[in-house]
Amino acid sequence: MSSKKHFETEAIRNQMERSQFSEHSTPLYLTSSFVFDDAEDMRASFAEEKDKNLYSRFTNPNTTEFVNKMVAMENAESGYAFATGMAAIFSTFGALLESGDHIVSCRSVFGSTHTLFTKYLPKWNITNTYFKVDEADQIESLIQPNTKILYAETPTNPAVDILDLELLGKIAKKHNILLVIDNCFATPYLQKPIDFGADIVVHSATKLIDGQGRVLGGVVVGREELVREIYLFSRNTGPAMSPFNAWILSKSLETLAVRVDKHCDNALKVAEFLETHENVNRVKYPFLKSHPQYEVAKKQMKRGGNIIAFEVKGGVSAGRNFLNKIKICSLSANLGDTRTIVTHPASTTHSKLSEADRLEVSITDGLVRISVGLEHIDDIINDLYQALNT
Ligand SMILES: *Cc1c(COP(=O)(O)O)cnc(C)c1O
Repeated sequence: MSSKKHFETEAIRNQMERSQFSEHSTPLYLTSSFVFDDAEDMRASFAEEKDKNLYSRFTNPNTTEFVNKMVAMENAESGYAFATGMAAIFSTFGALLESGDHIVSCRSVFGSTHTLFTKYLPKWNITNTYFKVDEADQIESLIQPNTKILYAETPTNPAVDILDLELLGKIAKKHNILLVIDNCFATPYLQKPIDFGADIVVHSATKLIDGQGRVLGGVVVGREELVREIYLFSRNTGPAMSPFNAWILSKSLETLAVRVDKHCDNALKVAEFLETHENVNRVKYPFLKSHPQYEVAKKQMKRGGNIIAFEVKGGVSAGRNFLNKIKICSLSANLGDTRTIVTHPASTTHSKLSEADRLEVSITDGLVRISVGLEHIDDIINDLYQALNT
């Protein structure tokens, strides 16, 4: 796109055509279907000879506006929006994989993605092999003749490890397989996986893209012919994003850059504070020099993001104790909200895993994950300080 504008401008000005009312801000098109002028208009529209909305399970002006922005912001060719991040991820596999296909994935993936790999995809004879974050040099040996997709998240959840996107892009290209990246933790403002060779980027828009803890959403962007298949899969199976959520999320994108910048300002300060605290063992934040993949993070991310993992000294009971003393921050399952959120994965999201399985994804007993919000930095740090000290 030669007329492409800067990131912030695309997020604000990549707007649908105004209606006859000349509204400034995009209106909400709460309509399940659309009308046609005559039989020929209807035939041509269904035959896709015309670019018209037919039914909101397929497309709607609000979802199209949201998707167009995401496509521009991720340097993608095309995209499609879903009800949730998991709907986006499942539809990607459903559309692009056949029975007998194989996925190579990093073990550190979102919990429901892990369940898809291990419980549901095998029902359709789609198998997967995991590599650990520090085993990226072994990926090529895991690729089989039936491998179709190389899959990863970076930064990972909840351990905030970094995978080298350039390396993954090169491996996928060499073996002629698709690289699918979950870019949820970074957002396109901090990281554009397509620039490193990703074919498809998936997102939970529920997180930083909404950024205000209001709506669920998901989006897939990437190469045109692949997105087309994913769109057709969704059109027939029905996990489309609602127009209302698209309207909210398109508005959210207008402030993504300023919000994420502030999240990063706050997160770096929190990470630096934690690193100096005597009751904290180990702090993982991509833009701290102590992060094991600091150089890779610097190469592929504009800034460090808003998620920090750290270890409270004293194991599970110390982790739980810390959470119980938190006063301002929230104990919640979400992330990427304006509100700072703390979670203790070993006793909550990953409690069903054995200790050995938790360690596979770097979740130690005292690990705490913080999604740093937009409250005043002094209040966030004071809250963490009193919870660590008492
Ligand atoms: C939350 C999340 C998802 C799933 O998104 P939903 O919108 O909750 O379905 C997928 N990947 C990552 C990395 C997430 O954090």
